[in-house]
Amino acid sequence: MERFDVVVIGAGPAGGQCARQLTQAGQRVLLIEQHETFDQNDFSSAATPLETLETFNLPETVIGSYWQNLVIITTNIQQKWPSPKPLGAVFDFAKLREFLATEVQSQGGEVWMGYRYLRYYQNHQNTIVELKQRSTGEIIQVETQVLVDATGPARAVMYSKKEPQPNYLTATAIEYLIELSATDYQKYSQDLIFFLGHRWMPRGYSWIFPMGNNRLKVGSAQLNRSHQWVNQNQNLRSYVELLLTDYLTDIPYKIINHHGGMLKYCSGLKDVYYQDNIIAIGDAVSMVNMLGGEGIRHGMQNANIAAGYIQDYLAGKITDFAGYRQDIRQTYTKTWNGSEKMGLSKYLKYSDESIDKGVYYLKDLSLDDMMAILFHYDFKRLYKAVFKYLRYKFDKVWITLKIKLNSTSNF
Ligand SMILES: Cc1cc2nc3c(=O)[nH]c(=O)nc-3n(C[C@H](O)[C@H](O)[C@H](O)COP(=O)(O)OP(=O)(O)OC[C@H]3O[C@@H](n4cnc5c(N)ncnc54)[C@H](O)[C@@H]3O)c2cc1C
Repeated sequence: MERFDVVVIGAGPAGGQCARQLTQAGQRVLLIEQHETFDQNDFSSAATPLETLETFNLPETVIGSYWQNLVIITTNIQQKWPSPKPLGAVFDFAKLREFLATEVQSQGGEVWMGYRYLRYYQNHQNTIVELKQRSTGEIIQVETQVLVDATGPARAVMYSKKEPQPNYLTATAIEYLIELSATDYQKYSQDLIFFLGHRWMPRGYSWIFPMGNNRLKVGSAQLNRSHQWVNQNQNLRSYVELLLTDYLTDIPYKIINHHGGMLKYCSGLKDVYYQDNIIAIGDAVSMVNMLGGEGIRHGMQNANIAAGYIQDYLAGKITDFAGYRQDIRQTYTKTWNGSEKMGLSKYLKYSDESIDKGVYYLKDLSLDDMMAILFHYDFKRLYKAVFKYLRYKFDKVWITLKIKLNSTSNF
């Protein structure tokens, strides 16, 4: 039986980055992925701010396209925050994960594609991991000192198949990858466009992101909870198609593929972070932020933190991962709770009119403010817009009062 220091299950951004960090540190690592290739589950829209590329030292080859303008469109309002230079990228999600896996291999680690994790059991000091090679059906066992659950929403290691899981806040997303003519693509090639409001997507938001090669990612995501005002009858797919018919009006396109996925978020960061020598990372511990469902950057950051604790564990400096759980909770709880609250209000409580109004008042915020709100969850910046709104309200009341006073004094 082959022996490893660390076995990471799931070669998503979190698992790939964790394995990359650990192989770089000289650990013997095995990274396992159930799919044969990364194209088979190329599900993420994968937009990210520019800083992600530098923070994780990622090459140009993993980028589908850069974007430099932020656009928000509601039922009746459209706001654009242009920038003279790129603000972020849309990853080629398959290439990103492929790059991380290749890094693992080039640093001496192993990557086994097409292997499904089945179960683990403890044998004295070590853990035996049972895997199934999907093409042959062969069951293989490996031994490890640390086992990492990086299986995303499945949380396949922390919870066995039959074990009940907590009641998550879930969101479902569908995305079409479409190809346009070069001329039509140019119109959208620099913009990260978000669609809010009841016309476009009552219980979430829709988007159009540039993907390079004259391709756009067109998608919709919805929270799987009822809306306070809207009784949504249409299915999710019809909202994606609405963008094609009512926004990209009269633009010929070819559908390259459809894909989608689910987010499963545990409110209050109450996930199971570790059990003995098993540790969970990425979406398996709700590292996806519920304001907009961004999870790649956060999963990779969380993977780096976890990798530090794993090294300490292997070096005998710590005997469990309690410090890891505490670290994550300290780092993320406040921001994650704030984002969840903001997301739930925006997507499930606001009337269409208040979404229009809210976005209208965002016009007074700078591009820097908008980036801080959307990507650093700095909601204090919204006060500027709230202040403008309150001033507008105050002015309106004041004018009405003045008119009334004038008309009374005329009698
Ligand atoms: C439609 C959609 C759009 C999104 N858009 C964005 C976006 O624009 N920007 C952004 O930052 N985030 C986005 N996200 C979220 C982001 O994709 C996730 O947060 C991120 O992929 C989580 O990374 P992860 O490594 O934790 O998990 P995952 O990426 O889910 O990876 C888990 C891996 O584990 C494998 N696995 C699962 N079970 C087993 C098993 N039993 N055996 C072996 N392997 C297994 C899976 O095949 C998968 O490859 C989006 C998500 C969806 C669904």
